[in-house]
Amino acid sequence: MLPEIHLVAAARPNLPKLAALLHALAEAPPFCTPVVVHTGQHHDAAMFGGHLADLGLGAPDVSLGVSGGGHAGLTGRTMMACAALWEARRPALVVVAGDVDGTLAAALAARKLGIPVAHLEAGLRCGDHDMPEEINRRAVDAVSTLLWAPDEATAARLLAEGHGPGAVRAVGNAMIDSVRRALPAARGRALPEGLAPGGYGALTLHRPANVDSPAALGALLEAVGRAARHLPLAWPMHPRTAGRLSEFGLSVPEGVMRLPPLGYLDFLGLLACARLVATDSGGVQEEAWALDLPCLTLRPSTERPVTLEAGSNRLVPVAGLEAAVAAVLAGDAPQARPIPLWDGKAGTRMVAHLRERLGAGGAADASHAWASAQQGCAA
Ligand code: UDP
Repeated sequence: MLPEIHLVAAARPNLPKLAALLHALAEAPPFCTPVVVHTGQHHDAAMFGGHLADLGLGAPDVSLGVSGGGHAGLTGRTMMACAALWEARRPALVVVAGDVDGTLAAALAARKLGIPVAHLEAGLRCGDHDMPEEINRRAVDAVSTLLWAPDEATAARLLAEGHGPGAVRAVGNAMIDSVRRALPAARGRALPEGLAPGGYGALTLHRPANVDSPAALGALLEAVGRAARHLPLAWPMHPRTAGRLSEFGLSVPEGVMRLPPLGYLDFLGLLACARLVATDSGGVQEEAWALDLPCLTLRPSTERPVTLEAGSNRLVPVAGLEAAVAAVLAGDAPQARPIPLWDGKAGTRMVAHLRERLGAGGAADASHAWASAQQGCAA
């Protein structure tokens, strides 16, 4: 019997990353049995279920049904559910993706049980130690056995942090694999009524620093309203932001089309036809690069500096959004430069690393192989 590898899907941004690995595994000669474990952090059709088919994925194999609560409650309950699963059904390896609370919970639960962990999208750092996702990134990397970095500079940082060369691999960016796979279908999607190709900007906002206080969200809405005088904006709204808007009694300014969270293909279709995107999302910064779409990131820092270097992305203070939109419309938007390894082959490289570590033979070989992988890990 082939060893099981459990891939943990907690929230929406995990799915395009895991899809790249799952498709590459399906295309490779079988050497393991992938099992998708859904923790439940995002769980409705708009934020999770509807994305599976868009990404060519089936229903999760295991659903833990843990959602809601603050960071500590969600992390703790997810750890307990993961541990119960893996005590009963022990995988050879757990793959966690990105930086959400479910990612951290699963990584900690697995390692406490002595199960090796691979971190898909390892090594990202924005330097803002107060950002919940930055805490998760650092903690997950610290306990991971294999660290899959999206580029060489990120892999070098992980080595400098003390992870062993056997553990760290620059595999490329899994998000780009998924964009490439989905783009033909996404381009065939109809735009929401009232939008014409090239005649609007896309907007996504959900980071706590931007939306969790009336002052921050109010300032953001004012800036968005001023920017929308130059270019109509289409805003598929994250449930967190929608909740804050109604909690604070705020509303979307004129010139902004509020939309529900879109499915992966519809959202990619929206981006593909947009004039620009303004966002505080991590994944959208990468997708904008893939689409050669000017990206204005409404944050003081990014964990994806390679997109700044490539010219597709700019950090913009909230008060500077209007000027930044006007600049792009005036033609100040260089063509995105290539980024090495962002070539749609990240899934294949992850599979190659797994095969090296797991060996051809399965579970018996795995224990030795994982042991040597861990020896390279300073943590
Ligand atoms: N996304 C989507 N529908 C939307 C907005 C975003 O499918 O209405 C996708 C987007 O294509 C990207 C992912 O959600 O793949 C990014 O997730 P999010 O911005 O929630 O998280 P982050 O990347 O910031 O962690």
